[in-house]
Amino acid sequence: MSFDDSGSDFDLPVQQAIFDTKLTTLRRRGYLVSNTFRSLKDNARVGGKGYSQHLLGLAGDLDIRGLSPEQINEMIRAARAQGLTVVTPEQEVALGHKPHVHVQAFRAGVVPKAVYRRQLGVQIQETP
Ligand SMILES: [Zn+2]
Repeated sequence: MSFDDSGSDFDLPVQQAIFDTKLTTLRRRGYLVSNTFRSLKDNARVGGKGYSQHLLGLAGDLDIRGLSPEQINEMIRAARAQGLTVVTPEQEVALGHKPHVHVQAFRAGVVPKAVYRRQLGVQIQETP
């Protein structure tokens, strides 16, 4: 899926509703999802990526505490089956983040930057 740079063809409320439906499906399967929406301040505090989809309510973190490696793999498969982009615990550790399974509605770079600017009212500081 791609959108034009102006983001005028990106309907955020619709995308949030689609994303929430997918998270609901995961929750019904017993998975705990947290941190769906993050403010700019919270995102900076936790060292989130500049253009984190958490800022738009298009990302969530799936709790892996108490799950076996097989259960984590099953969770990842379930998230991918919903069409979600998944950051695995190993990738999270490599990024210096707490190991959980981060899921987001779109691959990195797909959401037009103009959508962030319009929604948050500021220009995002890029993080390396
Ligand atoms: Zn996350």
